[in-house]
Amino acid sequence: MNTRQLRDMFLSVAHKVVESEDFLTEIDLKIGDGDHGFGMALGFKAVKTALEGKDFPTVEALFQEVGMTLLDTMGGASGVLFGTMFISGVAKQEPHEEADLALLAGIFRRALEALKRRGKARVGDKTMVDAFEPAAAGLEEGAAKGVSLKEGLALCADGAKKGMEYTRECVARFGRAKSYGTKAIGLQDAGATSVWIIFQAMSDWAS
Ligand code: ADP
Ligand code: MG
Ligand code: MG
Repeated sequence: MNTRQLRDMFLSVAHKVVESEDFLTEIDLKIGDGDHGFGMALGFKAVKTALEGKDFPTVEALFQEVGMTLLDTMGGASGVLFGTMFISGVAKQEPHEEADLALLAGIFRRALEALKRRGKARVGDKTMVDAFEPAAAGLEEGAAKGVSLKEGLALCADGAKKGMEYTRECVARFGRAKSYGTKAIGLQDAGATSVWIIFQAMSDWAS
C-alpha cells in the first residue's frame, strides 16, 4: 500500500469515527462524562481536513500528521493517548514509501507500548488497551503467517471487537469509569469502542 492508499484508508477511518459520534456519546454517558463522542468527532474531522487532497512523502509523515492533529484538537484523557499513539508508532523509524502488513504490525505494536507506558493501563483495566492489544496481536499473527493485507486487517478488527466486548466483563481501574466500581460490569468501555471502530474501518477499507 502506498502513501496515497494509506491516506485514503485514514480518511475512511475519519469518516467512520465522525459518523459514530452519537454511539460513542451514549456509551461514555453510561460510565463516563459523555464527551468521548464529541472529542473523537472533533479530532477526526480535523484529520479529514489535514489529509484531504494532500500527498505525504512517507508512511511516517502521514502517521505523524494524524497524531499531531489529534493532539491539537481532541482534548480529554483519550486525546493525548490517541495522539501520542499515532506519533509514537513511527517515532525513530526509518522512512518508508510503502506500508505492508509487517510494517503496520510494527507501528501499531510500538503505538500500543507507548499507550501503555503513558496511561499505565493493562489488559483487564477496562480501557482502550483491552481492544488495542488483541488488535495488534491480530496484525502480528497475519504478518507472521504471510497473509494478505486484507486478511491481516480482518484479523486485527476481529481482535479489536473481541477486546471491546471483553471490557463489558471488567471493572475499570482508570478514568471516570473507575468510580462506578462493579456497577460498570455489563457496560463496554468508550475508548475500546473507538479503537474497534478505527480498526474495523481499516479492515472495511481494505476489503
Ligand atoms: P475523559 O475520560 O477525559 O472524559 P474520554 O471520554 O475522551 O476522556 O476518553 C475516555 C476513554 O479513555 C476511556 O473509555 C478509556 O478507554 C480511555 N482511558 C482513560 N484513561 C486511560 C488510561 N490511563 N490508559 C488507557 N486508556 C485510558
Ligand atoms: Mg469522557
Ligand atoms: Mg471528559
